[in-house]
Amino acid sequence: MNEQCVFCRIIAGEETVSIVHEDDRVVAFMDIQPYSPGHTLVVSRQHHGDLFDAPDDLAAHCLAVARRIGAGIKHATGAPALNVFSANGAAGGQDVPHFHLHLIPVREGERFDLQLPKSDSPVPSRSGLDVMAARIGRAVHEVENGNEPGPAKAAAGTVV
Ligand SMILES: [Zn+2]
Repeated sequence: MNEQCVFCRIIAGEETVSIVHEDDRVVAFMDIQPYSPGHTLVVSRQHHGDLFDAPDDLAAHCLAVARRIGAGIKHATGAPALNVFSANGAAGGQDVPHFHLHLIPVREGERFDLQLPKSDSPVPSRSGLDVMAARIGRAVHEVENGNEPGPAKAAAGTVV
């Protein structure tokens, strides 16, 4: 538990929330400032900063819970759409640095602010996309082999 973390305090029972589901690894509760009525958070009990810090099996379990309660949210709210959203990192809008998924019902006629593709996004050339795909593919191997520069190695005391 991280005392500075509001989600850890909620999971420890120190803050009151409206719980939809809980099990040994996950708690799902109503967002206190919902984007739309029915907006629910799926939160790991263990403190992990974001999706990329969480173990694979825990992340998979959170998604399984999201799928199960998501069906209930749609049924309860009558929303034909349910968006699953996860911000990872403050720059991306993550407000609480404890891994969580947002389940956001979207009703007919409502608009969800994040629409893809953005209407003003440029369409890169195929060669530009190929270059980026190759760069990411190489980086995946570098990260998996522990060769990536950055905060993780620096935090472990490795000279970068
Ligand atoms: Zn936490």
